[in-house]
Parts: sequence; C-alpha cells; structure tokens
Amino acid sequence: MSGLVKKTNEACAADHCNFLRNFCKRGHGGAAPRYTPRMDILWTPWRYRYVSTADTAQRQGVPAALAAWPGDTHCVFCNLLESARYAVGKGMAALEADRAANIIYRAQHCFLCMNAYPYNSGHAMILPYAHTAEFGTLDAEIATEMMFLAQKLERALRRIYRPEGINMGLNLGKAAGAGVTGHLHLHMLPRWTGDTNFMTVTGETRVLPESLDEAGERLRQGLAQD
Ligand SMILES: [Zn+2]
Repeated sequence: MSGLVKKTNEACAADHCNFLRNFCKRGHGGAAPRYTPRMDILWTPWRYRYVSTADTAQRQGVPAALAAWPGDTHCVFCNLLESARYAVGKGMAALEADRAANIIYRAQHCFLCMNAYPYNSGHAMILPYAHTAEFGTLDAEIATEMMFLAQKLERALRRIYRPEGINMGLNLGKAAGAGVTGHLHLHMLPRWTGDTNFMTVTGETRVLPESLDEAGERLRQGLAQD
C-alpha cells in the first residue's frame, strides 16, 4: 500500500481542540485532510495465489519439463534443485535442466534463479543450496558468497536492463512478506520511475516486456560474462 504522510503535524489552532490541523474534524481549520504520497511499491495481485500456497502446495516449483522426478521436499526451491539434479542424473544436459528450472547461475554454496512470479522484468534471486530460513545463523562463508553474488547480479542487471534503481532484499518470515518462509532467498530486481503503473492496480495484470525465459537467458549470459 502507498505510504500516506501528513503534510504537517501542527495542532489545530482552535482552543480545546485536540486534533492535528489537517485532521481537524470539527471544521476549525476548514481544510480537508491532505496527504502526500511518500512511497510507491509494486502492487502485484497476481502473486497472491503463489505466496498464499507456496509453502503448502504439492510439488510446488517442479517445472513441467522436470516432472519425471518423483519426489517432493515441500520446498519450492529445494524441489527446483532436486528435480533438476534428478533430470541430469537421467541424462539431461545440465544447462537444459537449469533452463527448465530457471536457474541462471551456480556457485559453490549458492545459486541464482529467476523469480517465476516476478515483480518486474529481470527479477532474480540469490539462494543458498542449503534449506535454511535464518540469515543470522548462516555460515559466514555462505553469507559472504551471497553478497558476492548480489554484487555480480547487480552488475549484470545494470548492464543488461539499464535500470534507474534496483531493489534488493530479504523477507524473513511471513509477516515480513516472505512467500516462501523456509528457504532464504535474496530478491533483486531492476526498477524504473513509473513502473508501478496503473495496469497493475486496475487490470490485476502486469505488462512484462519479455518472457521469463528471455529474461533468464539474458541474465545467464550476462552473469557468465562478468
Ligand atoms: Zn528448501
């Protein structure tokens, strides 16, 4: 939701009135409450079904091309990794399996994948292979690699998308906005002035100028060249 900020916190000038001036409901100031928009965030109703079921749905995250894997870890991201690993074990090329899973880069402790329900074009995430929800207790070597990969991804995003800004963040716990609470994932997405456009709010849809596969391929190549 948009943050709404009072333009002033001056008290109503009338005697015995406890309201702030802009909120005076007794008509002393004569002015209606005035607000100044302070912050826009991306409003993404199409993500609701995903974030409300991501921790409980069966075999969530298993891509259709990797559905031969019979298991279910009950974690979107572990399912991605395990179904890709299974496919490679059965003879699929590693790159083909990673493409199917939207995995765009693999490092020693962490990997990068595209967000299947993106806030914006180029929305990617950095995750440890290990299934862990806590950043504070993460092994220092893994945490360091996450930050190193965040730098690498930022460079790739800037080079490829030329964004005006970048959001980067961890949502720890459902109350903090995490769709998947059990497995750490550091979001990173390019931003442009005006990208919180009306289509998102009124159309319950979002105009993404490229497909997830195209975005993933561009970033995969960008990261490989870094
Ligand atoms: Zn997991």
